[in-house]
Amino acid sequence: MKPRICGPCQMCCTWLAVETIGKACGVPCEHLTAHGCGIYEMRPDECRIFTCAWLVGMGDVSVRPDRLNGVVTAAPERQLIVIFTPDLDLPERSAYVRKLLAVQGRRGHGLILVKGDEPRKIWAKEEDMERIMALSATEQKATGTDG
Ligand code: SF4
Ligand code: SF4
Repeated sequence: MKPRICGPCQMCCTWLAVETIGKACGVPCEHLTAHGCGIYEMRPDECRIFTCAWLVGMGDVSVRPDRLNGVVTAAPERQLIVIFTPDLDLPERSAYVRKLLAVQGRRGHGLILVKGDEPRKIWAKEEDMERIMALSATEQKATGTDG
């Protein structure tokens, strides 16, 4: 697979924290410019090593973080997916996130949405899962897909 590039996406420079430079989660980095990182050659190690799940191949081009409106990060084996986003109701608006949630639910794994310092939204409660699984089942019937 051709390696992916961030292109115009700069989502992680706002929605993730970078502790070494005191950058909080959900706040645009002070070094962020219209053309990308203003201190690219001297950027912190956290920034150098970070890759979101999309950049390493998860999801198709339509869910690049700036298009999805969320940065998806996944633990090894995907026991936990965390989505850093300005929209805590993203599963309501994104079929891709609903599909992720349905797959996580089937595997007994978790999915958490994080918006800056606001309380995290954990989409693992029974009523959420039932609603999302129902939506997902309808979509899978319509598209013939299964996670
Ligand atoms: S969120 Fe992912 S695709 Fe977007 S800039 Fe960060 S690493 Fe690149
Ligand atoms: S230092 Fe650069 S790469 Fe790191 S968050 Fe700020 S703008 Fe983004």
